[in-house]
Amino acid sequence: MIDPFGRSITYLRISVTDRCDFRCVYCMAEDMSFLPKRDLLSLEELERLAVAFIRLGVRKLRLTGGEPLVRRGVMALVNRLGLQIGHGLDELTLTTNGSQLARYADELAAAGVRRLNVSIDTLDEAKFASITRWGRLPQVIEGVMAAKQAGLRIKINAVALKGVNEHEFDTMLAWCGEHGFDLCLIETMPLGEIEGDRMDQYLPLSVVRQRLAANWTLTPSTYATGGPARYFDIAETGTRLGLITPLTHNFCESCNRVRLTCTGTLYMCLGQDDAADLRGVMRASDNDQILEDAIRAAIARKPKGHDFVIDRTRSGPAVARHMSVTGG
Ligand code: SAM
Repeated sequence: MIDPFGRSITYLRISVTDRCDFRCVYCMAEDMSFLPKRDLLSLEELERLAVAFIRLGVRKLRLTGGEPLVRRGVMALVNRLGLQIGHGLDELTLTTNGSQLARYADELAAAGVRRLNVSIDTLDEAKFASITRWGRLPQVIEGVMAAKQAGLRIKINAVALKGVNEHEFDTMLAWCGEHGFDLCLIETMPLGEIEGDRMDQYLPLSVVRQRLAANWTLTPSTYATGGPARYFDIAETGTRLGLITPLTHNFCESCNRVRLTCTGTLYMCLGQDDAADLRGVMRASDNDQILEDAIRAAIARKPKGHDFVIDRTRSGPAVARHMSVTGG
């Protein structure tokens, strides 16, 4: 699938649920209302869609959410999708908050998952509880260690938040280095209404990088995962630092992905509203040709990029939906 700007679409992210057991302050409002169950695609429908995308050239699948591992029966889907690896699919992976990993790490590895992104914004227990509102750090660390034990490669994702975790990245880099994990820092993106002002949270990663360079030898790396992160090798640890900078450095020119929500809505860009309803198409007919045509028609409308801005005059959301709808 080639979009109107010549980009090859080989990566599908699937949000398998909008529900989450955490309420991260930059991601969700505390009193989120979630979708009624009847609106969700069944696990079988999610598989049918994923397989259609693989037939059309998708080589990498990421399950996300909400929290993917709180969807009931999700391991059945992971197992089914794992069977596609080597048959068009190169990689099946997940982004998770880690809360359920102690329970699922071995099963994920057995299903063919080789890498995981785990979101941890701080290693300070009290701060972790205040950022996630409902999360408990020891449970997450236990999960991460179970995943490491199961042989999964781990990247820790942290959203950089001004005045919250901005002075912890040295500690986090050292901890990641000790365990062989890469660390990826993310600028906060203006998605959905939240209680606070995004301007108060926004920390440009150009600032963080300069600060880290005082203590660590960071060399631009050739490593690329097909994602938006720019990587640096860290001489002291042998691990990597990734920076995802949707605000200070737009990465849309190399975008290779589209995002499917748990209701079967396909977003062609994280930061734009245009979308295609694949649930309606899929439920109207068992004919996969019609489904594939609808997917191709959506890719033909993929926009050039997002227009994220956070500054004194514009701190409101670029799009109304929260990150928990499309899953990052
Ligand atoms: N629950 C899973 C997790 O915690 O990783 C998957 C879904 S979560 C929405 C995916 C990622 O998006 C997390 O790393 C989270 O920190 C990040 N995220 C959520 N809202 C964001 C925002 N407004 N700007 C930047 N990153 C955000």
